[in-house]
Amino acid sequence: MSTPASKTDFAAVSRLSADIDLFAEGKATGFVRVPHSVHRSAYGWIPIPIVRIKNGDGPNVMMQAGNHGDEWEGQIGLGNLIREIEPKDIKGRLVILPSANFPAAMAGQRTSPIDNGNLNRSFPGNAEGTITEQIAHFIEHVLLPSFDYSFDFHSGGSSLSYIPSALAPRHADPEGMKKVVGMLKAFGAPVSYLAAAPQGGGRTFTSASARQGVISMGTELGGGGLVTARSLKVAEDGMRRVLSHIGLLQGAVPPPSPTRLTELGGDDYYVYASDSGLFEPLVDLGDEVKSSQPAARIHFHDTPWRTPAVLPFKRDGLVLCKRVPARCERGDCLFHLATDTTG
Ligand SMILES: [Zn+2]
Repeated sequence: MSTPASKTDFAAVSRLSADIDLFAEGKATGFVRVPHSVHRSAYGWIPIPIVRIKNGDGPNVMMQAGNHGDEWEGQIGLGNLIREIEPKDIKGRLVILPSANFPAAMAGQRTSPIDNGNLNRSFPGNAEGTITEQIAHFIEHVLLPSFDYSFDFHSGGSSLSYIPSALAPRHADPEGMKKVVGMLKAFGAPVSYLAAAPQGGGRTFTSASARQGVISMGTELGGGGLVTARSLKVAEDGMRRVLSHIGLLQGAVPPPSPTRLTELGGDDYYVYASDSGLFEPLVDLGDEVKSSQPAARIHFHDTPWRTPAVLPFKRDGLVLCKRVPARCERGDCLFHLATDTTG
């Protein structure tokens, strides 16, 4: 961000800065520096890895993972992309932030060990706030405005597991819808889903992208705190296909892969734990279920002679997401569904 125009603008200026030029030609690797003065390092900074690859004119694209630190396919896939793609392979500018909430990624946690901040609930951020709020502010106000497209590679994290999926927010205008559906089809995850259009005050990276006029797409690639060869292949092939689709990546890409286009609606798509106890799933990922069909039993292992609670699905749908740990507490998400759509 440029020098403040007046004293009153000062609070909006990020303390964070990249130590590479994000607009220069060629390939450069470096760090976004987050000043962080602590006992072991009085004048130190947190190093968030960042990479720029640029070759002339073309789309401006930002790819990000590690928004939640314990979601790994995107972080590994973007690492591979960084090492494999050279300026000659693209037209335009690609900036990659593979571990956006770097303290969370280094701790293997969803949230930051420094301030418990959930980056994807911290936008638009605060230049004078906590470390996580400062990262969110930098991403939304310093990085995002210069891009045409943004990609945010999530996974289910430690507590959830997904059928490898890609997602995009609905757009009010048909042209925007056509663009994101085209991107989802190019990415080619086994399932794609359309989510509700972001609200103006939304706290997510998707909302931040919409506020900054950037077309965005995301993923939920797997989860459970682990990586499989299959989920990583979905991530890596999808990254290359969608970068080719939007005109950045040149040359051959992996062959097309069909996707099942679905949507996510309101509360009736979700099953939440009604009690604390042990979660017994009665269906698996990929099952087609009916309204009122039992989804789970909650066992009371402190009083195992009690009859377990039985929780039904509230509508028909495809089981897209499932809780991983057996131990659950009231309010934990156990399942969510998706339903087919034509767009
Ligand atoms: Zn996530």
